[in-house]
Amino acid sequence: MCIKFKKLNKIIIKCKRCPRLTRFIKKISIKKRKQNISEIYWGKPVTGFGDINAKILILGLAPAAHGGTRTGRAFTGDKSGDFLFKCLYEAKITNQPFSINLNDGLKLNSTYITNILKCVPPEDKPLKKELNNCSKYFNTEVSNLKKLKVIVTLGKVAFDNCVKFYKEKYNFNKKIHFKHGKSYLLPGNLVLIPCYHPSPRNVNTKIISQKKMINLFLKVSKIAKIK
Ligand code: SF4
Repeated sequence: MCIKFKKLNKIIIKCKRCPRLTRFIKKISIKKRKQNISEIYWGKPVTGFGDINAKILILGLAPAAHGGTRTGRAFTGDKSGDFLFKCLYEAKITNQPFSINLNDGLKLNSTYITNILKCVPPEDKPLKKELNNCSKYFNTEVSNLKKLKVIVTLGKVAFDNCVKFYKEKYNFNKKIHFKHGKSYLLPGNLVLIPCYHPSPRNVNTKIISQKKMINLFLKVSKIAKIK
C-alpha cells in the first residue's frame, strides 16, 4: 500500500463527520447479528482496498451492516460479496473465489474496490449531506489511482451517485442512464460500466446470474487490457 493510500485510509477510519452514521455503526456493532454474536465487529468506516496500480475500479454504494462493517473490508463476509467474488475469480480478477475476512489471502488483479460512502447508512439510504461529506474521500481515491481505465458500479444507486460525482467535478451534462453492461465515456477517458448489484434479491429473482456477471467482468478486463 503506497503512502498516499495509507494516509487516506488512516483518516477515513477515524472519520466521524456524519454523526448519524457514526451512531448507526456503533449500534450495529454492539447489537450484532445472531450468527455473529461472538465476533468483535470492525465498527468503523470501511476503506477501499486492492491494487493501487489498478486499471479497474469496482464501486458500491456503502458497506453492508453485517458484511463490511463487521469484517472491515468492502463486500466481505456477506452474501453479495460471496456472489461477487465467485464471479471475479472466474473472470481472473481475484486469486480466490471468496472474501471472508481481512486475513484470508485475497489479492486483486489490477483492481481496486471501494464504496462511494464509507459508512453504512440506516436502511441503505444515505442523506445528501452524508454523500457530500464523503465524496472528498472518493475524489482522493480516484485521483490516486493513476492508471485507472474502467469503473464498474454495482447497483443503480452507486451508478447514479458516481455519475453525479463526475458531473459535479467536471461540469458535464451528458445524459447517462443505468443499463447493465453498457459502456459510457466519462471525462478523463474513463469508461463507466453499470452492473446489477450482486444482492441476494437480484440473484434470487435472476436479474443477475453468475454467467451475466462473469461476462461483464471479462468485457471489463478486455477494455482495461488486464491479463
Ligand atoms: S460517511 Fe464518510 S464522511 Fe461520513 S463519517 Fe463516514 S467516512 Fe466520514
